[in-house]
Amino acid sequence: KRKNRLSVEEYVEGILAGNRVVLSRAITLVESSLASDQHLAEEVVNRIMPHTGNSLRIGITGVPGVGKSTFIESFGKLVVDQGNKLAVLAIDPSSQKTKGSILGDKTRMEELSHNSNAFIRPTPAGAALGGVSAKTRESMLLCEAAGFNVIFIETVGVGQSEIMVKGMVDFFLLLMLSGAGDELQGIKKGIIEIADAIAITKADGDNIEASKKAKREYNNALHLFPLNDNGWRPQVKICSAVSKDGLADIWTMVQEYKTAMQANGFFEENRSNQRVSWFDEHVRYLLESRFFQQKEVKAGLIDMLPKIKNGEMSSISVARYLVDYFLKDIPND
Ligand code: GDP
Repeated sequence: KRKNRLSVEEYVEGILAGNRVVLSRAITLVESSLASDQHLAEEVVNRIMPHTGNSLRIGITGVPGVGKSTFIESFGKLVVDQGNKLAVLAIDPSSQKTKGSILGDKTRMEELSHNSNAFIRPTPAGAALGGVSAKTRESMLLCEAAGFNVIFIETVGVGQSEIMVKGMVDFFLLLMLSGAGDELQGIKKGIIEIADAIAITKADGDNIEASKKAKREYNNALHLFPLNDNGWRPQVKICSAVSKDGLADIWTMVQEYKTAMQANGFFEENRSNQRVSWFDEHVRYLLESRFFQQKEVKAGLIDMLPKIKNGEMSSISVARYLVDYFLKDIPND
C-alpha cells in the first residue's frame, strides 16, 4: 500500500493551484489499476470537472519516424512562446511490445520538457487500449484544471488509437512525409478522412520541392471527399520542425478552426457528443474490468481459456456462460 497518498482535498487544491508535482501524482493515481486508487481518482476527477474544458485539444498522429516528437518540440515551443500553457500526453498502445518506444528515450522533447509552461507526460506503459483511453481523457481534464489551455495528445499511427484520440480532441492533425507511399506510412483512407489537417513535415533542404508536390496530391485527394458536416475543408500544409517553416501557419489554422467551429456551434456539439461516448466507453470499461476481476470468472477462465485456445470449447458459448454467471442475480429479459 502506498502510505503517502494525498487526500482528495490535497489533490484538488494542488491541481487547481497549478502544482505540477501534485498534477503528476494525480495522473499516476488515475493510471493506477488498484480499486482504491481508482475510487480516489474518480472523486478527484469529479471535483475538478467544473474547472475543465477551457482548452484547445489537439490530436497529433503519424507513423513512427514521421517526426512527431520533433514536431511537437518545435510546434509546442511556438505555442508556449505565444503565452499558452501546453500539456502533451502520449498514447502508445503498442508499448507492451515495444516497451514504450513512444517516449522511451529521454531525449524526446528535451527543450519543451524543461519549459515551465509545458508539461509532458508519457503513456501509461502496458495498459490496454480501452484503459488508456479512459486514463488519457481523465489526465487531460486534470491538466486543464491545472491551467493548461492547450493539450496535445500524441499517438502512433497504428489505426485503432487514432479513432480513439479523434473521439477526445477538438482538432486532429495527421503528420505525413513526402515521397513515402501511403501504405508505407500505414495510412488507411479512414485516417485521412478523420484528419482536420495533414501536415507534410520535414519540408526542408532537398525535400521542399517533393513536399510541395505531395501537398498538391493530398489536396486533390481530399477534394474528392465530401465536405465535413461542420463545413470545414481539411487543409494540407507543409512544415519543417527543423527550419520551423510552416509551423506558425499551422497554429494560425488551428485557431481559425476553433473560431469557426465555435461560431457555427460545432465546437460545443462535438464536445457534448464526446461526453456521451466517454460515458458509453466508461460503462463498457467498468463492466469489462469488473467481469475479468471477478473471482469465479477468473477461476473459470484458468480452466476454460486453454480449451478455447485449442478449439475444444466454443468462444461464444464460454463467453455467454460466464457473462450469465457474472450477471446471475440480474433478470435477463
Ligand atoms: P517520431 O518517431 O514520429 O516521433 O519521429 P522523430 O521526431 O523521432 O523524428 C524521426 C527522425 O526524423 C529524427 O532523426 C529527426 O531528427 C528527423 N526529423 C524530424 N523532423 C524533422 C524535420 O522537420 N526535418 C528534418 N530534416 N528531419 C526531421
